[in-house]
Amino acid sequence: MIPYGRQNISEADISAVVEVLRSEWLTQGPGIAHFESAVANHCQAKYAIAVSNATAALHISCLALDVKAGDIVWTSPNTFVASANCARYCGADVDFVDIDPATLNMSVSALQTKLEAAEKTGRLPKVVIPVHFSGLPCDMKAIHTLSEKYGFRIIEDASHAIGAQYDGKPVGASEYSDITVFSFHPVKIITTAEGGMALTNQPELADRLARLRSHGIAQRKEHLIKPAEGAWEYQQLELGFNYRMTNLQAALGYSQLQRLTEFVSKRRALARHYHTLIEDLPVTRPAQSEDSSWHLYPIRVEKNQRKKLFDAFRQADIWVQVHYIPVHTQPYYQALGFKWGDFPNAEEYFHQAISIPLFFDLSHNDQALIVSFLKNNLS
Ligand SMILES: *Cc1c(COP(=O)(O)O)cnc(C)c1O
Repeated sequence: MIPYGRQNISEADISAVVEVLRSEWLTQGPGIAHFESAVANHCQAKYAIAVSNATAALHISCLALDVKAGDIVWTSPNTFVASANCARYCGADVDFVDIDPATLNMSVSALQTKLEAAEKTGRLPKVVIPVHFSGLPCDMKAIHTLSEKYGFRIIEDASHAIGAQYDGKPVGASEYSDITVFSFHPVKIITTAEGGMALTNQPELADRLARLRSHGIAQRKEHLIKPAEGAWEYQQLELGFNYRMTNLQAALGYSQLQRLTEFVSKRRALARHYHTLIEDLPVTRPAQSEDSSWHLYPIRVEKNQRKKLFDAFRQADIWVQVHYIPVHTQPYYQALGFKWGDFPNAEEYFHQAISIPLFFDLSHNDQALIVSFLKNNLS
């Protein structure tokens, strides 16, 4: 079986985890801050907060930006449900901005048009969550310019995009956003099994994220709101969660991070190779980019070919996937009033989409096999 994505675990990764197992610190321990500062350094961000998964990171990022009932959050319909659900956890309303068919990311012109309309009706978003789909960075400068004009905050959902570059800097630098979120799920670029991280350059946001990750309890002495009666004292200042990462996961993450550059260069090379192999087929290839971290390689085929081709791949044990069923068409979101037809570009893309396998250990042989299978099953 060839999956669409798969982790690569080295002997060094295994030793790093075993070392933690033999230590005092299984849950909270020194490995977490070590991993956080390594990711922050790599990404040229000031602060990084490790959490149990990216969904948790998105949730506390919304809370740290004071998203609450009555607020509006916009994201892309071409994403995993977690990018929208995080706002619903806070009681906010969610809406979507259609994608640019060339990049498959949130369309800046659709965003601008929607903002102009929303301003007239007094329904401007508090937060916009652009998603770097497949690892290709969104046009963050343009989105940031719009945020200044219309007064919204920005969370980058970079679950696909650790290791990607934007404007000469690593994604995660958060130069044009308030917070950037990474996922370390095994299909993503580096893994901690479950795991995620929120990066920011703003100290107040970093403190708030750290507090929300751990029950809402003040993390530092200077944050206590009344003098402590004894050394036993801790003060819960708001309602938070147990969204902590373990020391085991952090050790795995730190070890994986040492190979991030290698992982991403390999993915870029595999994507270039697909691009050449597929060139002459009646297939739309994803936008070629050396800035992308290439989490996915999503091809587009004729709508009426997609199901047949998908089933044929699966039958042949080539475990392709579809990224993504547009979030607004999920039953949960339809029950909130969204319907097919609301975001036509995301829907059109979805009907044509197949993500073919792309991961570190994929060989040129596998790629040749996948592409010849593709060729033989297109009619
Ligand atoms: C994987 C993913 C998430 C959720 O990540 P978890 O770490 O599994 O919670 C969120 N957004 C996007 C775009 C993703 O691909």
